[in-house]
Amino acid sequence: MSFSVTILGTSSAIQAHGRNQSAQIVKVFNEIFLIDCGEGTQAILKKYKVNFNKINHILISHLHGDHYLGLFGLLSTMSLLGRTKPLNLFGPKGLKEIISIQLKYGDMALNYEVIFSETQVKEKAIIFKNGFLEVSSFPLIHRVDCTGFLIKETNKPFKINTEDLPHSLSNVQYNRLKKGESFVLSNGFKVEAEKWTLPPKKARSYAYCSDTMYNEKIIPYIKEVDLLYHESTFIEAHADRTISTMHSTAREAATIAKKADVKKLMLGHFSTRYKDLDQFLVESTEIFPSTILAKEGNKISIEES
Ligand SMILES: [Zn+2]
Ligand SMILES: [Zn+2]
Repeated sequence: MSFSVTILGTSSAIQAHGRNQSAQIVKVFNEIFLIDCGEGTQAILKKYKVNFNKINHILISHLHGDHYLGLFGLLSTMSLLGRTKPLNLFGPKGLKEIISIQLKYGDMALNYEVIFSETQVKEKAIIFKNGFLEVSSFPLIHRVDCTGFLIKETNKPFKINTEDLPHSLSNVQYNRLKKGESFVLSNGFKVEAEKWTLPPKKARSYAYCSDTMYNEKIIPYIKEVDLLYHESTFIEAHADRTISTMHSTAREAATIAKKADVKKLMLGHFSTRYKDLDQFLVESTEIFPSTILAKEGNKISIEES
């Protein structure tokens, strides 16, 4: 099953140095999530050939313009392109009202239903779940209500090891074994899951943390994820700016990654004051070597291990 993250935007505040505002596509099998939707996201989706109407869910972290000003335009375009499939929209209090006002004063209606769920800002909450994954939101510390998101596989199938099984199994029985269930065949033969299966592979996970100041309280939520995206708006030379803006430095993001024992860290949300981003990598890898910089158009696959 595929699990990938495609970067559409890495800039904080405004577009600069060829960098767009925050937006990412996370694809897990046939579920496509758009996380944040900065201005211009629809043009960038087009550039990277993402079919708008295949997006099932949009997750908005907070209501600073660089994370959601592209949303209304995208919702409108989806309607004009003939979408009828409902869309799940997750975001902070106020987002539903903002969209309603835009529709009201434009005398517009969308051809499809937007199912809005307000994110919780006090504690972690599961916001979506299906047969193979679970999405949670969790609080970040920023100037306005803001949440991170965790996308995690669930119900990983057991690996079947039936080479020596003296009876053939029906599809239904095979699927039960994949779920780790034991059962008895009509001839009385006991098919015990412990004997004929191997444990499932580790569930893969991705965590998105933008925007936030350094906050160790998020560590339990992102513990041991395969890939952590953590904002790093500044380098150490401008660390004093993190207090008033409630953002993080590369070194702080790396410290969180290390303490959370994640597999890989991806830095993003770079301030427009930096054209060159090398220093972010230098400062982060000193603490957490397995760091990469988010870059527009990059697709990071999370492989099974
Ligand atoms: Zn931002
Ligand atoms: Zn912000």
